[in-house]
Amino acid sequence: MQEVAVLGGGLVGASLAYRLACHGARVTVFDRADPGQATAAGAGILPPLDHFIGVQAVLPLLRAARQYYPELLAVLAQDGELDTGYDVVGALQVATNDLELAELTHVERECVARRDAGFAHIGELSRVDGAGARKHFPLLSQTVRGALYAAGAARVDARRLLAALRRALQKRGGRWQSASAEVALAGGRALGVLSGGRLWPADSVVIAAGAWSALEGERLGLPLLARPQRGQLVHLELPGTDTSRWPIVLGFGTHYLLAFPPNRIVAGATREDSSGHDASVTAGAIHAVLESALRLAPGLARARLSELRTGLRPVSPDGTPILGAAALYPNLYLATGHGGYGLEVGPYSGALVADLIVGKAPAVDLSPFAPSRFPGPAGVPAR
Ligand SMILES: Cc1cc2nc3c(=O)[nH]c(=O)nc-3n(C[C@H](O)[C@H](O)[C@H](O)COP(=O)(O)OP(=O)(O)OC[C@H]3O[C@@H](n4cnc5c(N)ncnc54)[C@H](O)[C@@H]3O)c2cc1C
Repeated sequence: MQEVAVLGGGLVGASLAYRLACHGARVTVFDRADPGQATAAGAGILPPLDHFIGVQAVLPLLRAARQYYPELLAVLAQDGELDTGYDVVGALQVATNDLELAELTHVERECVARRDAGFAHIGELSRVDGAGARKHFPLLSQTVRGALYAAGAARVDARRLLAALRRALQKRGGRWQSASAEVALAGGRALGVLSGGRLWPADSVVIAAGAWSALEGERLGLPLLARPQRGQLVHLELPGTDTSRWPIVLGFGTHYLLAFPPNRIVAGATREDSSGHDASVTAGAIHAVLESALRLAPGLARARLSELRTGLRPVSPDGTPILGAAALYPNLYLATGHGGYGLEVGPYSGALVADLIVGKAPAVDLSPFAPSRFPGPAGVPAR
């Protein structure tokens, strides 16, 4: 039975570990739950479209990732885990001026093209006017003049999905160490990880350390893996208003709204590239998020402020995930770099790398995501 150590227990590491356990491997996750863990902060949007428009290499991964969600939920259900916060609620891409109304036409065309190419998750598409948009999301501003509604968009509560994966992993014999760890290398191979003052031997080791992956990579002489990009968002409550079926609202900037039962609204989010690993909540960011949210939905002014969240997105040098074996260490694997789409794609990426580790051919070609694609040291270790 193969022994695998996974460094990092965010959504990517946990889904990878769970799939390994489903394959019959012995798995230990090492996770120190840093403040700024992206999974704990993530909004939870599984959108109709995404940031990959034009990045062809990612599309097969994305398509398969969305098809995988129901499959993963079904497997978790077999393990008795039903509380994942996943639901198909639809999404409104809203337009507030002529330019954005024209842009909606492009978005609709792209959605139709994607759906024809097998992206079934986009679902039914319809154009609605401002009043039609407000029927879906009653608090929307009168300035909203039109919207594209995509019925298949979904939301997930990443904290609950992560907790479900962790419990399911443990039910299958996997171990979870709430501790810091580092990779131990010798003779061109990973020996295991060092944690709590001892070596935990492993046949394979995975770095799934989110925005901290680069720190571990640099220590090992591997190229830059993923840098942190801070995101801050606000959780609001609308006592007495049932928000459980309200759709996701996407603006044309980085702002969005998203609802959860029974009366929660999430307003996001900043994209702060120079944050480093500082996971502070800042006044300016919260001001900017609330200003965008209230412009889009002025009725939120009466909402209660319930929580401020901040997380560090793991952004790779070329914006696409880093998945596969490190160039010169055949038993050291990487699963990181999902930036702002890790809740959408991360569970599937983790599953693909797990398949690779147990010698099963991944269902999607992982060569575009190989760690060795970066220039410079390109995976060549310094020692
Ligand atoms: C504000 C915000 C909103 C977002 N919204 C969305 C969204 O709506 N949809 C979407 O698809 N994505 C979204 N994302 C992106 C998504 O959250 C991330 O891409 C995803 O959670 C990354 O998961 P991960 O497992 O790679 O990293 P993380 O969740 O950050 O987990 C990494 C873990 O590794 C641990 N770790 C690191 N180093 C070590 C070590 N040496 N030893 C032990 N443990 C270690 C850390 O403590 C951490 O727990 C959002 C992100 C943010 C910040």
